[in-house]
Amino acid sequence: MRIEWIESQFFDPGKIENAMIIIHHTGSTNGMINSFEGTINWFKPAVWRSTNQASAHYIIAREERPIVQMVRDEDTAWHAGRSSWVIRGQLRESLNRWSIGIELQGDGQIVRYTDFQYEALIWLVKQKMRQFNIPVDLIRGHQEVSPWKPDPGPLFDWNRFKRALTSVTVPGGEVPSDEYVDEDGDGIVYIDETDDVYIPGGRERGLLGRLFDFLASLFKK
Ligand SMILES: [Zn+2]
Repeated sequence: MRIEWIESQFFDPGKIENAMIIIHHTGSTNGMINSFEGTINWFKPAVWRSTNQASAHYIIAREERPIVQMVRDEDTAWHAGRSSWVIRGQLRESLNRWSIGIELQGDGQIVRYTDFQYEALIWLVKQKMRQFNIPVDLIRGHQEVSPWKPDPGPLFDWNRFKRALTSVTVPGGEVPSDEYVDEDGDGIVYIDETDDVYIPGGRERGLLGRLFDFLASLFKK
């Protein structure tokens, strides 16, 4: 497995701690899943954007290719702005500053993730768990830390993922089947993609911050 570096403009330098890992999906637009390239361009736009600023540390494509890293682990990516979780007995909010964010290309409401994605995700998460001493119970979905969010969705197989991380049986239901069929059995389901990506802002900004974004946008066009 390889990691390719493409730096996003959207991050804060530094962070409190890599205490947890948050799993996302890149979503879909009008029934078409957001493309890998479109997601990269959303996190690293050619023309700087003052609104809906979002980023993640890593993106994993549906098809076999290097994982793309867009924010350093030591820096704060903007993937889970308004969010909360209990970390070692303390309720923490604004988890961007406590976490590594990983995006899976796809939409866990409409299509299963590919074998390659599980393989890459497991490889990456195992590394980060070791590197930052992150326990398996602090690896969570965006939908858990921000309950109004849909990702990674019901078609993400937590059992398969966590079994591979721990080899301990994890309770949880079966993943429901979806309507797409893996015709050639290579673990990749091909569905229509769009480059017209819109991933909601993952940055948590106060009023002052928003004012600053607005002023900056006037000069950075
Ligand atoms: Zn998300």
